[in-house]
Amino acid sequence: MEQSFIMIKPDGVQRGLVGEIISRFEKKGFYLKGVKLLSVERSFAEKHYADLSARPFFPALVDYIISGPVVAMVWEGKNVVLTGRKIIGATNPSDSAPGTIRGDFAIEMGRNVIHGSDSIESAWKEIALWFPEGIA
Ligand code: ATP
Ligand code: MG
Repeated sequence: MEQSFIMIKPDGVQRGLVGEIISRFEKKGFYLKGVKLLSVERSFAEKHYADLSARPFFPALVDYIISGPVVAMVWEGKNVVLTGRKIIGATNPSDSAPGTIRGDFAIEMGRNVIHGSDSIESAWKEIALWFPEGIA
């Protein structure tokens, strides 16, 4: 069954949005297969966002991701990658529709609360990176 890697970013954790976000994915009908609270080091965050390493905002993005603990999750279900991205909303919260997580809880692109895998291939890579111990 299809899986996606979903991460609540440091601002989402600090603002107390963990329960709300998990609830939205659960109520949609997806299954939580793995979850952990952890802080990551710079080199790890750089690996996670390696595809963006040439972008001007990359250093600020890495600073953001390592600024506090994150909640790393694996969610499973039919079309979870694409549907998860819809639940999350557009990258820039100014463009995210109300009713999406970013549309409801974010204003700044650099503090957009949550990450979701953008393809099935990215999901495999990200799950392997974040859950090297495997999931139940
Ligand atoms: P994520 O990968 O975090 O789920 P995304 O897939 O919607 O987000 P990406 O293009 O992968 O968007 O960018 C990763 C993250 O980098 C964004 O979520 C945002 O925090 C940051 N980012 C992207 N573009 C910009 C930008 N132009 N200026 C500042 N930050 C940006
Ligand atoms: Mg992305």
